[in-house]
Amino acid sequence: HPNFYSSKTGIYSSKHPLINLPSDPFLDVVTHIFSSKHKGVSALIDSSSGTSITYSQLHPLVQSVAGGLHQMGVSQGDVVLILMPNSIYFPVIFLGVLYLGAIVSTMNPLSSLLEIKKQALDCNVTLAFTLPDKVDTFSTLGIPAVGVPENLKSDNSAFYKLITSDLNSVPRPKINQQDTAAILYSSGTTGSSKGAMLTHGNFIAMVELFPRFEASQYEFISEESVYLAALPMFHIYGLSLFVMGLLSLGSTVVLMRKFDADEMIRLIAKYGVTHFPVVPPLLTALTRAAKGVAINGLKSLKQVSSGAAPLSRISIEEFIQALPQVDFIQGYGMTETTAVGTRGFNTEQLCNYSSVGLLAPNMQAKVVDLITGSFLPPGSTGELWLRGPGVMQGYLNNVEATLLTIDRDGWLRTGDIVYFDHDGYLHTVDRLKEIIKYKGFQIIYLCLTAYTNLQIAPADLEAVLSSHPDIVDTAVIAAEDEEAGEVPVAFVVTRNGCAISPSALVDYVAKKVAPYKKVRKVVFTHSIPRSASGKILRRELRNFLPSKI
Ligand code: ATP
Ligand code: MG
Repeated sequence: HPNFYSSKTGIYSSKHPLINLPSDPFLDVVTHIFSSKHKGVSALIDSSSGTSITYSQLHPLVQSVAGGLHQMGVSQGDVVLILMPNSIYFPVIFLGVLYLGAIVSTMNPLSSLLEIKKQALDCNVTLAFTLPDKVDTFSTLGIPAVGVPENLKSDNSAFYKLITSDLNSVPRPKINQQDTAAILYSSGTTGSSKGAMLTHGNFIAMVELFPRFEASQYEFISEESVYLAALPMFHIYGLSLFVMGLLSLGSTVVLMRKFDADEMIRLIAKYGVTHFPVVPPLLTALTRAAKGVAINGLKSLKQVSSGAAPLSRISIEEFIQALPQVDFIQGYGMTETTAVGTRGFNTEQLCNYSSVGLLAPNMQAKVVDLITGSFLPPGSTGELWLRGPGVMQGYLNNVEATLLTIDRDGWLRTGDIVYFDHDGYLHTVDRLKEIIKYKGFQIIYLCLTAYTNLQIAPADLEAVLSSHPDIVDTAVIAAEDEEAGEVPVAFVVTRNGCAISPSALVDYVAKKVAPYKKVRKVVFTHSIPRSASGKILRRELRNFLPSKI
């Protein structure tokens, strides 16, 4: 076996050298971020208003917010909610709260009142930051809220007072690396979302093992790098980069409040954007837009990285064809690992676009057989377990879920089905929860048959269906079947006006997969429901399952 895998322990280690993480137990992530030396000038730029925050302004602003919060009575251990679209003040507020030893929880600004209420209760929010027109929503919940205007004016507003408050009044509590810094809720793709408790130490590790490590590997990441922030800062992917990691590198973050494809192209040219972290739907939008742009317009782009959801082979190929000069990688991470997981790593010999990359430094993995529980070597598929300094403390108010997710030795069950190839690159197959369990008779030896539990990954069938020229989008889910337990049903969006018969599609798939995997029913639909990060919301499709398969 290759040296990154031990057949004795079943443990995969990172192929990257070990990184020394700060050993001082009393270090908070804000101090850590601001202690890094760099020559960066512009930190955050709001692309809609042109307003910016420079690096020399950033630290004093964070201290002002901390000071103002202290005056308002916020103290160590209190939870402050941020419910806002991307803003140059988002990182300032986030880091200001942490500076005080208080805890941030974030939320999608599109959340409903019910969702806000649920999360605010779950994590016991003492104060919220939100857009001015949402302040009333919080009043109805009895939670004090500060309105953060899109364009700051010198006025009497609470936020203006906060951001210009007296710096000298901030008492620094003792903050331990093991103290909770944020409670981030997972995306809720597979069920109701849970609050992952992430510590200062988790974030320090994230800054070191993800953006700072990557910068040490690529000479094209530096203070000169300009990142386009179209991903939301409230989710771990955008947060790890735009609120923390890149600010420790001295790079420039140009943020979009709302994604718009034409605007994206304009901003890349205007600001000389060099790096663009995306999720699959954004990659598709970029590819499409790039086709209509003179190549000069995008010449500053050096690297595009995709994560958060599976990317189809076609999307990758089309992107590489449209922008061959751009380095393309994928990365894999989750809320529960503070975004630390794997990252693509292209060398001259190897451009492994379809993999999600190599294990981050200091991280370990196991691939666990779904049935026997044994640990599997490279090339074999099973559930990914991760261990390392990015792994969360646990879920808030949910001991049961925590115990089911992290074992006694610190292994986190990711719920993702994967395999490592022989070069140590990780490939995702599907999510454990989406796997279709088909009970069938299998011919084992000549005429001997046995009743076995077979597994079907929806992603495999989606890949086959996507290869059909008349299909533009598709999602496969399990439907209950009396005899077989579960069988696959495909939801299909066809190219405008294409009339294909369901049975032709069933046959199309049947010719390309093992008999038990074949799609049992095709349902035509206008669109596939996806989350903002491109994850298929299969639970929504379940409502549209035909009653009879
Ligand atoms: P929930 O756990 O609440 O159902 P979620 O898992 O979608 O929601 P996140 O923490 O935002 O919430 O997402 C992590 C998951 O995203 C991973 O477990 C994995 O399934 C998926 N993922 C992340 N990166 C990739 C990638 N590059 N390719 C495929 N899937 C990915
Ligand atoms: Mg999850």
